[in-house]
Amino acid sequence: MTIKLKITLWFTTFMILLSAVVFAFIAFFTSSTASQELRGKLTGLVDKNSREIELDDGELEIDDDFVSFKDGIHCLIFDQDGSKITGYSPDGMLEREPFRDGAIRQVQVGLEPYLLYDRLLPVSRSKSIWLRGIVPERGGGVDTAAVNRAVLIALPLLIVLAAVGGYLIAGRSLQPIKEIGKTAEEISKSGDLSKRIAVDGSGDELQRLAEIFNRMFERLEANFELQQHFTSDASHELRTPLSVILAQCEYALEDVTGKEELYELIGVIQKQGYRMSHLIESLLSFTRMEQRTEAYSFTRIDLSALVLSVCREQEGSGERGITLTGEIQPGIFLKADGALIVRLLENLIRNGYRYGRERGKIRVSLSEAGGTVRLSVADDGIGIAGDELPKIWNRFYRVERSRSAAKGKGLGLGLAMVKQIVELHGGRIEVKSEPGWGSVFTVLFKSAG
Ligand code: ADP
Repeated sequence: MTIKLKITLWFTTFMILLSAVVFAFIAFFTSSTASQELRGKLTGLVDKNSREIELDDGELEIDDDFVSFKDGIHCLIFDQDGSKITGYSPDGMLEREPFRDGAIRQVQVGLEPYLLYDRLLPVSRSKSIWLRGIVPERGGGVDTAAVNRAVLIALPLLIVLAAVGGYLIAGRSLQPIKEIGKTAEEISKSGDLSKRIAVDGSGDELQRLAEIFNRMFERLEANFELQQHFTSDASHELRTPLSVILAQCEYALEDVTGKEELYELIGVIQKQGYRMSHLIESLLSFTRMEQRTEAYSFTRIDLSALVLSVCREQEGSGERGITLTGEIQPGIFLKADGALIVRLLENLIRNGYRYGRERGKIRVSLSEAGGTVRLSVADDGIGIAGDELPKIWNRFYRVERSRSAAKGKGLGLGLAMVKQIVELHGGRIEVKSEPGWGSVFTVLFKSAG
């Protein structure tokens, strides 16, 4: 069953229920007003007639204005003992009903309900007469049966109209879902992730759904492109050392004469081998982290002690006279994988040394405030230009390839890895940098308490 049909069915059922309630209400309302009106007419006529009777010389005199039948109401006169003086009643039984002054009551004769209204009228000191109004309860006043008939014809018609209207409206409002399905199918068949669902300006839920899908396609496309670049960049990075190794081998096999030259060549080959090995290791750990195949042990670690020990280790590497200082608040704990945190910090400090000023400073600081652990690495080196900042997190991205790669430095993977580690720990990383003045990388984690 399609959603369109389901909505129509629900809608029609609802309409039927609603119509039943409306019909019941109308029926009740018309019959109650009709009965009210009829009672009014009945008492009105009897009361009016009561003023048209008087006693003249001991004789009962009925005025010409006395109305014995009007609007289905019969008016009869009885003497004090209940014998009829004048008037016609629709059924003899109604004349034998006991009298009750001033009360309207319902009397059933066979299947026919009647309304009776009596008035005791004193005509002299010793003599009274009874006036009785009789009216069949059906038929007088509003024609309730006609109203009911009209309602019974109009309501089913309304329901059919509502069902057809509902079906058309449901079809129209579900049209965007069809569009979404069509585009999604086209994308999955053609593999063209650049396609998007047309978004109308309705601002309704379906427009939001289309926008969500479009955002998802955007992300998929971006990821897909990233993956493609990553593969081609990785192949490219591997090709360079590999061609150096092959060229060195060829040379060694053909032209090398002395042992010393051979050692030198092997040294070059080994260096390129290390570079390849480092690259492959990095690629593997990226994939592992992405697929979470490596079981990381997130335990409560003493971050202060860990940062201190990494700083001590890195202090020694003191390249180009750069000094490393630490401002580490003791007793800070974090739920983390210790090995990954070490890798994160080593990458940031290594960059500080690589891109730091000669005889400059690297400052590592760790503090905790307001439930946030703040770990930062600052240097006073070459810095990064503003437009480069968003790109430094991309894999294989290097600012001015010449200034790092040509010198045989990084692969452009360090910061991508740092970011991935931070995200794996539910934290975030920020960078502030000014060319010529230095950079500050700040990692923010939620405190483990
Ligand atoms: P690499 O292995 O090349 O250092 P990273 O991913 O660690 O790769 O860094 C990406 C680029 O960002 C680097 O090529 C470098 O130009 C720039 N960069 C990173 N850290 C710093 C820093 N502390 N100071 C200046 N530039 C930096």
